[in-house]
Amino acid sequence: MNRAEMLERALAHREAWDVVVVGGGATGVGVALDAAARGYDVLLLEQCDFGKGTSSRSTKLVHGGVRYLEQGNVSLVMEALKERGLLRQNAPHLVSNLAFVVPNYEWWEAPFYGVGLKVYNLLSGRYGFGDSEILSKEETLARLPTIRTEGLRGGVVYYDGQFDDARLLVNMAATAAEQGAALLNYAPVEALTRDGHGFVNGVVAHDLESGREMKAAARVVINAGGPFCDAVRRLADPGLPPLVAPSQGIHLVFDGEVLPGGAAIMVPHTSDGRVMFAIPWHGHTVVGTTDTPIEEPSLEPRPFDQEIEFVLETASRYLLRPLTRADVRSVFVGIRPLVRSGDATSRSALSRDHVIHIDPTGLITITGGKWTTWRGMAEHCVNTAAMLEHLPEKPCPTRTLNIHGFHRHAARFGPLAVYGSDALHIQDLVRGEPALGEPLHAALPYCGAEVVWAARFEMARTVEDVLARRTRALFLNARAAIEMAPRAAALLARELGRDEGWERAQVEAFRKLASGYLLA
Ligand SMILES: Cc1cc2nc3c(=O)[nH]c(=O)nc-3n(C[C@H](O)[C@H](O)[C@H](O)COP(=O)(O)OP(=O)(O)OC[C@H]3O[C@@H](n4cnc5c(N)ncnc54)[C@H](O)[C@@H]3O)c2cc1C
Repeated sequence: MNRAEMLERALAHREAWDVVVVGGGATGVGVALDAAARGYDVLLLEQCDFGKGTSSRSTKLVHGGVRYLEQGNVSLVMEALKERGLLRQNAPHLVSNLAFVVPNYEWWEAPFYGVGLKVYNLLSGRYGFGDSEILSKEETLARLPTIRTEGLRGGVVYYDGQFDDARLLVNMAATAAEQGAALLNYAPVEALTRDGHGFVNGVVAHDLESGREMKAAARVVINAGGPFCDAVRRLADPGLPPLVAPSQGIHLVFDGEVLPGGAAIMVPHTSDGRVMFAIPWHGHTVVGTTDTPIEEPSLEPRPFDQEIEFVLETASRYLLRPLTRADVRSVFVGIRPLVRSGDATSRSALSRDHVIHIDPTGLITITGGKWTTWRGMAEHCVNTAAMLEHLPEKPCPTRTLNIHGFHRHAARFGPLAVYGSDALHIQDLVRGEPALGEPLHAALPYCGAEVVWAARFEMARTVEDVLARRTRALFLNARAAIEMAPRAAALLARELGRDEGWERAQVEAFRKLASGYLLA
């Protein structure tokens, strides 16, 4: 993916696009990928970087959602479990199988969760990730050596998927580009154009790098603005009532030694009635999440103190050594675009199903749902768009479409495993210039070649793009990320042809942003 070429394509396109997608998160990139793979002419515009919104801030689970099973939403769970299986099939370099242990401290928990998790596995049918099992106390301790032992009776283990959200997103964008889509980051949509009958027939966007305005006519505009989708809808009709009730969730990241056994902990009932996870991820431990209603979405949401205390307290209840603020390497916050419902009393009671909403202006909004179900959501949305706009009927091929980087044995690439087959090209960069193989920081597994790769082939434009989403440094260890920034900025400036002033400004902007991910 090359930004200059993408921009050129967007500017030179004289005809109306079949589909213009607003928003470059999992939902929008998924829709662009589906539509392009069917053979439609597609443009996607993202106001910041791909994944700047919620899609880089998830719990990193490819899952059916055990919690929704308890709520009786069997069809939602089955659908997500099928998508979980398809995603592992199509992106095996990014989706891995992870053991989750529910520790039991009460006599009834083993039979109760044992049965529930058996059903969870049965619902996945041929897309199963492994049978659940009841564990003895010793077996539980072997998988979770740091768990609190006082009163521990045993546990139940089940299997679910785990991934790197921002990396999958950039690989999906690359797949969409390979299928012919044009995708542009740093291009906010600022207006929607309408025909003589009032129907939306295009967008006006702004290239933040050149300052140029871009008009793109479209047969159909799909709004995948996530938590911001109501603002996009109001570009066409300012009086529209909101569709989305934003709710934020925080994650705290700790060193890997918090969970040294390789298994995750699932707490099925926190004091606020939610589930909470502690998950090993990229050599660290991610603990979360919360569900707190907020008034307005923002691109850099901040954690509330009570959310931080809640996560620390809940996790500490299950661990031998309590966790404190000083242990936190990074805190990150995401906003769920939950679809409003008249009778729901709390955000966690709102549906996790996706919704495809068509405004009287013909603007199609797709929102809600989960990362896991991006493919099914995109298929549903493109089917709807094709029917509504009389696009020629074309079958959806994404059930068996490999995602860019597809590799069945990517683990052999060590720290570059998440790149899948691209790891070979990154290794080539290091062979050509050995200094690029040096780590950017002793605490994290990233090297200079990854910055160069991100700038040349993944449309990374800023230090934040590289350290937050092309690598996950900011999410894993915010202090280390700040220390890496000058080196990353120098490499990026060299690749993008920027001067020292730009480099300094980038380091300063990143330091400011990253300080919001630090607690102590
Ligand atoms: C805390 C938390 C944990 C989660 N964990 C999981 C999980 O483990 N597994 C799972 O399956 N799901 C999970 N989810 C759900 C999942 O992350 C979301 O459903 C998904 O990321 C939403 O993607 P999206 O593309 O709709 O929104 P976003 O990722 O927010 O993307 C919307 C994009 O639209 C862009 N945009 C907005 N307005 C404009 C405009 N005018 N012009 C151009 N671009 C615009 C934004 O910049 C943004 O990048 C979690 C969600 C949260 C909040």
